[in-house]
Amino acid sequence: MTRADTFDELRAAMDGSVLVPGDPDYDGARLIWNGAIDRYPAVVARCTSPADVAEALACARDRGLEVAVRGGGHGYWGAAVPEQGLMIDLSPLDGVVVDPVARRARVGGGAKLAQLDAACQEHGLAVPAGTVSHTGVGGLTLGGGFGWLTPLHGLSIDNLESAEVVLADGTCVRASADEHPDLFWALRGGGGNFGVVTEFEFRLHPVGPIVHLGMLFVEQDRAAHAIRTARDAFGSVPTGISPGIAGICAPPAPFVPERHHGAPGVAAIMVGFGTAEEHAAALAPLREALDPLFEVVMPLPYVALQQMLDEGTFWGIRAYTKGLYLDELPDAAVDVLADRLSTRTSPLSELLIFPFGGAYAEVADADTAFGGSRSMRYVVAIEGMAPDPEAYLRERQWVRDTWDALRPAAVGPGTYVNLMSEADEGALRAAYGSEKYERLSRIKARYDPGNVFSVNANIKPA
Ligand SMILES: Cc1cc2nc3c(=O)[nH]c(=O)nc-3n(C[C@H](O)[C@H](O)[C@H](O)COP(=O)(O)OP(=O)(O)OC[C@H]3O[C@@H](n4cnc5c(N)ncnc54)[C@H](O)[C@@H]3O)c2cc1C
Repeated sequence: MTRADTFDELRAAMDGSVLVPGDPDYDGARLIWNGAIDRYPAVVARCTSPADVAEALACARDRGLEVAVRGGGHGYWGAAVPEQGLMIDLSPLDGVVVDPVARRARVGGGAKLAQLDAACQEHGLAVPAGTVSHTGVGGLTLGGGFGWLTPLHGLSIDNLESAEVVLADGTCVRASADEHPDLFWALRGGGGNFGVVTEFEFRLHPVGPIVHLGMLFVEQDRAAHAIRTARDAFGSVPTGISPGIAGICAPPAPFVPERHHGAPGVAAIMVGFGTAEEHAAALAPLREALDPLFEVVMPLPYVALQQMLDEGTFWGIRAYTKGLYLDELPDAAVDVLADRLSTRTSPLSELLIFPFGGAYAEVADADTAFGGSRSMRYVVAIEGMAPDPEAYLRERQWVRDTWDALRPAAVGPGTYVNLMSEADEGALRAAYGSEKYERLSRIKARYDPGNVFSVNANIKPA
C-alpha cells in the first residue's frame, strides 16, 4: 500500500463512499470529537449497509490492515481512528425508525443521541442515553450508557431488545435473548469487541415532552457544603426525579444571570420527569439547605434537556477523562472533590457525580456484561478539557491527580469503560472483574478469534 493507493476495488464493491488522504472529506472523517487525537487512516469506508461493512472487512483482511469502527466519534482515546488502518465509518447509518405502538426504535449504528431523542420524542417516547446530544449511540450503548433517565429506566443496554451485527468474517447476524444469546450478553457492556453493530433495537418509555429542570448553583467557596447537602438530599429523592452534582463554571448561557457567567462552583441538579408540583416539592428543601448563589428552575422539552450540556463539550476540544465508582460519598471524599475543583485551571474542566439506584439497581449484575456493580451508588466522571495543547496537558495531570486522590473512597480499581482515556488489559480486567472478563474473552474467541476488532477497549480472545 502506498499513500497514492486509491482502494479502487473497495470503491467498486461498496455503495457508500471510500475516502483516502487528499480526498476533500477525508479530514472530516478522520478527525473526531477529541481534538487531542490526530491520526491518519489509510482509508475510510463510509458504510451504508451491513453489506458495505462486510466488504470493508474483506478489504482489510486482504490487505492486512488494522480495523477500527467509528460510531459517533466520541470515544475519549480515539478508538474510532486507526493510524494507517481501515476506518469503518458508520455515520451514514444514522436512521431512526420508531414504532410508537410497539414502543420500539430501530437505530442505525452510526446515529447520534440527538437523532435518537428527536425521533422518539415525536411520539412522546425516549430510551435512556447520555447527557450530551452529539455523542454516538453506538459506543455509548455498547459500553453501557447512562443518562438522566437511568434512575427511572436503567442503562441504555437494559433497554436493548436486539442488535444486528456484522461479525469479523463478514456474516450478518441478529443478537437477542433468543438468537446468539451469548453475543447479546456480551454486546451489553463489552464494547465494540464482537462485531460491527449496524442496527440497535431499543424498548422505549413515555417521557415528556416537557420535563422540569432544577439547577441550584453554589459558589466555589462553599463547594464542600454544596456537595454534602446535595448528597444528603439525593439519598431520598422520589421516583421520577433524576439527580446529579456538577462541579463546573457557570456557562455563559442566557438562562444564567450575566454577572455569574464563568463563576466556578457546584450545581446541584434535579431533573423532574413527573409534574411541576412534584418537582417543586422535591426541590424546596434542597434550596433551603443550599442557599444557592443563583438557580435555574424551568420546564423545558426533553430534547432541550439532552442538549443542555452540548456547548460546554464542543467538537474539537482536547479532552482527557477518568471515572470512578463509589459506594458511599463520605465527607472525606467530599472534601477531596471540593479541594480538587479549586485547583483546575481550565474553566471547561468538570467533575460530575451521578447518583445511581432505582431502575439501575434492579438489574442483576450477571444479566449484562456491564463493567460495574448494580449496587454501586455513584459514578464520578473527572473531565479535563481545554482548547489548546498546553492547557490540555495541565488538565490531563489534574484528572490523574484527582483520580488518585479519590481512589481511597472508590469501589476497587474498576471504572466505567466509556470513561477511560487509556485501556490496557489490566485496567479492563479491573473494570469488568475477573469473572466477567473471562466470560467476555471466551465469547470473543467464538465471534472474533483473530481479534479483528482490536482498536477498542480490547478484550483478548481466550
Ligand atoms: C462529550 C461526551 C459526553 C458523554 N456523556 C456520556 C453520558 O452522559 N453517559 C455515558 O454513558 N457516556 C458518556 N460519554 C462517554 C461515551 O459513552 C463514550 O465516549 C462512547 O464511546 C462514545 O461513543 P461514540 O460512538 O460516539 O464513539 P466512537 O469513538 O465512535 O466509538 C467508541 C467505541 O465504540 C465502538 N463503536 C461505536 N459504534 C459502534 C458500532 N455501531 N458497532 C461496533 N462498535 C462501535 C468503536 O469502535 C469504539 O471502540 C460521553 C462522552 C463524551 C465525549
